[in-house]
Amino acid sequence: MSIHFHPTDPIIEDDHDANLPSSDEDEDETWDDWISDSSTQRGDCRSLFDNKTGNVEDIIAYDKAAHGFDLNEACARLSLDVHGRIRLINFIRQTKPAPANITSLTGKESFFTSDDFLRPVVEDDPMLRYQPDDWTDSEDEDSLSTDRRIRLLEQKLTETKRDFQEYRKIVNQRFNLGQTAEPSGLPPKRDDDSHYFESYGANDIHAVMIQDKVRTSTYARYILGTPSVFENAIVLDVGCGTGILSLFAARAGARKVFAVDASDIAMKAEKIVKANDLDSVITVIRGKVEDIQLPEGVKVDVIISEWMGYALLYESMLDSVLVARDRFLKLDGVMAPAHSKMMLGLCDASEIVKDRITFWNDVYGFDMSVMAEELYHEAVIDVVGSHAMLSTPSVVKELHLSSITTRQLDFISSFKLTSSVDRRTKVTAFILYFDTFFTASGNPVASEKEVDVIQENDAVVAEVWPLGGRPAPQRRMSQHHKKEKSVEKPAGDATKTDVVTSFSTGPKSIPTHWKQTLFLLKEPFVVDEGYVVYGHFHCRKSVSNSREIDVEIHYTIQDVEGQNENPEVIVQMFKIQ
Ligand code: SAH
Repeated sequence: MSIHFHPTDPIIEDDHDANLPSSDEDEDETWDDWISDSSTQRGDCRSLFDNKTGNVEDIIAYDKAAHGFDLNEACARLSLDVHGRIRLINFIRQTKPAPANITSLTGKESFFTSDDFLRPVVEDDPMLRYQPDDWTDSEDEDSLSTDRRIRLLEQKLTETKRDFQEYRKIVNQRFNLGQTAEPSGLPPKRDDDSHYFESYGANDIHAVMIQDKVRTSTYARYILGTPSVFENAIVLDVGCGTGILSLFAARAGARKVFAVDASDIAMKAEKIVKANDLDSVITVIRGKVEDIQLPEGVKVDVIISEWMGYALLYESMLDSVLVARDRFLKLDGVMAPAHSKMMLGLCDASEIVKDRITFWNDVYGFDMSVMAEELYHEAVIDVVGSHAMLSTPSVVKELHLSSITTRQLDFISSFKLTSSVDRRTKVTAFILYFDTFFTASGNPVASEKEVDVIQENDAVVAEVWPLGGRPAPQRRMSQHHKKEKSVEKPAGDATKTDVVTSFSTGPKSIPTHWKQTLFLLKEPFVVDEGYVVYGHFHCRKSVSNSREIDVEIHYTIQDVEGQNENPEVIVQMFKIQ
């Protein structure tokens, strides 16, 4: 969906200077300016009378100021208990009465005794969970001792928890939601794993990954070409799949490799390891890396993992890798990869627009354009050629794998994209891709470090992944002698202090199985040389499924004279799913 806001609208104001490139400061930004279309966002509460969102207390105050209805006052006046309060909120949300009509409620209305109004109208409605601090109590609290106050508050808390447990039970039973409350009283845990791990149990997905030459050959180049990291090392392979990276690590001279995977593919990995006589080095462990144990006290020298998803963060597997880092990596251990960057650019995606959108306008003479509407709020995963890039890319997120935290994976950053076209060209999409770097030190690369862009017929791909299935003799010879020190120099530039191996999933590279992520614009615009598009890129895990991503792009366009073509900030929201 696409929404327009005037730049001075407070809802999009933040302390960013849009001229600044994104920085680590971005990581500390909050979600206060996340714009909700119709549904409430995580932790956000919607007004009882309009679409304004914010934290519960602010929204209650807002409803009082803007609509003359004070929820807390009404609950106190009507002496409502927790259930009464919940019924009142749901009644208002469902029947949408005028605020003036609610102030005349007496508490005797039939909905105050109806279980129908215990059912949340808004999913995960924070207003239902909220209890005001100044909950009426018969005792004069000012005169109470601190201890007594604490005890009273604890008592209230226990009562509230009990009330909510009871409330959940009623809602589940009454509405047959098929979820029983957990004994702890917490909401039933959502399962974002089963389907995910099932999908990795099948062979095909592993074939696609292994046949992705750019991906697999870069991991091989790094593992086989960086003996300082792998020789004699203890390695943890997070999400080993078929075990390919563990096999490379064993071949590179690792002393011990723990290969962990939570899907059924782990059983095949075990057979593969045995078939290659590497079971004395590689131990396959079936389980989630969050749950497994390594032998008593073992910490690893290297964590190797191929965790990247579409648009880098889709799948949220990185969260698991960070847990593994914090549980098992030695303090001076190496994360491989060490550094990833999310890159955003302007894109001419006219071919994709033609294939996926315009096509529906005339299907055997029928207008089926309604079929294309969702493509404006769902990211498209597809490949574009290098000619489709209409700007130099802007880094919207730097991920330093040795230090990044899961909290920092939800972020907002500013971007500035300067058009690189030499004639008027229509921008039909933003394009997102990622670059990934492996280093011998495990440190991130310097900002000026260019990524290796691998192209057809590059020797690096042909050597590690023999084209046409023919073995590459040199490679095989060196690979069979696992203790051999000098395998080959990685193709990445070696600096004085570090050795870097990298690959890009951008349009200049041989396409990878990640392709590129395209955000098709509802309102394409034309740029000439030197036009600048300023904006903010918002990215966070979806509230409904933590493996999916919600993206919001806010942007304005300036011509060469610095004039805004259109003074409005355009906002478009997408799901990556
Ligand atoms: N390393 C393999 C497979 C990469 S795909 C290769 O390079 O070809 C990612 C794998 O990680 C999948 O097999 C998936 O089942 C596994 N995985 C994802 N999250 C995991 C977790 N938390 N614990 C264990 N395995 C996980």
